[in-house]
Amino acid sequence: MATAIGFISLGCAKNRVDSEIMLGQLRQAGYDITGDINQADVIIVNTCGFITAAKEESIAAILDAARCKITGRCRVLLVAGCLSQRYGNELLQDLPEIDGVMGTGAVPEIVAVLKRIHAGERPLAVSAPGYIHQSQVPRVLTTPNYTAYLKIAEGCDNCCSYCAIPAIRGPYRSRTMDDIINEARLLCSGGVRELIVAAQETTRYGRDIYGRYALTGLLQKLALIEECRWIRIMYCYPDSFTEELVELLATSLKICRYVDLPLQHINNRLLRMMNRRGNKESIVKLVDKLRQNIPGVTLRTTFIVGFPGETEQEFNELLDFMEQVKFERAGVFGYSPEEGTPAEALPGRVSDEVLAERVDQAMRLQQRISLAHNHNKVGQVLTVLVEGWDDDAKMYWGRTEADAPDIDGRVFFTSRTVAREGDFVRVKVLDAAEYDLSGVRTNELA
Ligand code: SF4
Repeated sequence: MATAIGFISLGCAKNRVDSEIMLGQLRQAGYDITGDINQADVIIVNTCGFITAAKEESIAAILDAARCKITGRCRVLLVAGCLSQRYGNELLQDLPEIDGVMGTGAVPEIVAVLKRIHAGERPLAVSAPGYIHQSQVPRVLTTPNYTAYLKIAEGCDNCCSYCAIPAIRGPYRSRTMDDIINEARLLCSGGVRELIVAAQETTRYGRDIYGRYALTGLLQKLALIEECRWIRIMYCYPDSFTEELVELLATSLKICRYVDLPLQHINNRLLRMMNRRGNKESIVKLVDKLRQNIPGVTLRTTFIVGFPGETEQEFNELLDFMEQVKFERAGVFGYSPEEGTPAEALPGRVSDEVLAERVDQAMRLQQRISLAHNHNKVGQVLTVLVEGWDDDAKMYWGRTEADAPDIDGRVFFTSRTVAREGDFVRVKVLDAAEYDLSGVRTNELA
């Protein structure tokens, strides 16, 4: 009987693609893959480790998996991903249940690392993170078969002062356009209808290998893939958002009018302390341009509150900005000091109470804004990608072009005929809550 692998993937979409590539290689090498970790002979935890909460979640998942060595069939526990890249030695020293550790650069070595463990070694496969995958590498999708993440680049050159990612993932490196298009074609011929373009910074794509921002050209080529219906772009950086990209979003029928633009703050002093490029004026100009040129655009952003030295006045400036722009979606995170980052040494740490209060205040404001946006959709007929049936609501549910999977809201709807997962349908919105919408399927073709 083949060895069964149980795989736990944590963290962001970029890490998820790494998990899918590791699964692809394991399957090719003859391993079985099981969704039940109690039935797994080998458990692999692909960890996240960029902020404290993510590290804690990763450690909890490792300890849960270790319990399967006592209660289940598990004989081997391998820890991969960002936490291993950052703290590989410590993990091996402090957690004897772990049989091996591999970093973000060791993704293509997964089968070899497992062989070393089977041979009695306790490997520490952590080196400089330089890996970026190629389209011919086998991949097992962990998303529904109609949606896939398309990782166009790896690493980051930005060095925001609070962020450990460049140390974990290495410098920015784009994949070639041809290779990305090959992978996208393969995915779409296998049934994918929504491609989600991801990188630490998608808008920088091409600078390192073509000497220019090349995201627009890449998207134009992706849009030519007949089977592809939606292309969604995540993780844009304000100062590399080009005029051509605005124009393409305004005119393309396939590229979702959805802009994910992590801004982190709006106060100029804090933006400088965060080592972010651009300033309040350039951000306001870009947001105005997006609103004016892309009708119906959905703007998503993230903010960090409680950065060292953030005053009450600076925090209120952020709230005023949120009130003024009225982002459709916004995530608010409390600052998390990260080992080895420049911001860790900054004076003026905000107390835990103040931090929690600021997160809460900003999130409550965003909920009000989000509810108002959703109320405006009542009466509209929207195109929805069907995702499934909800037993509690006794309704189908799906997403519009304004909703990325896992992070945005859902549209619940009734339908007189069966709605199949992966189909596009038209839904008339009848009711709205802070995050979700509900309605009824119409007879219109989507
Ligand atoms: S852009 Fe900044 S926050 Fe994002 S991964 Fe790069 S360094 Fe981190």
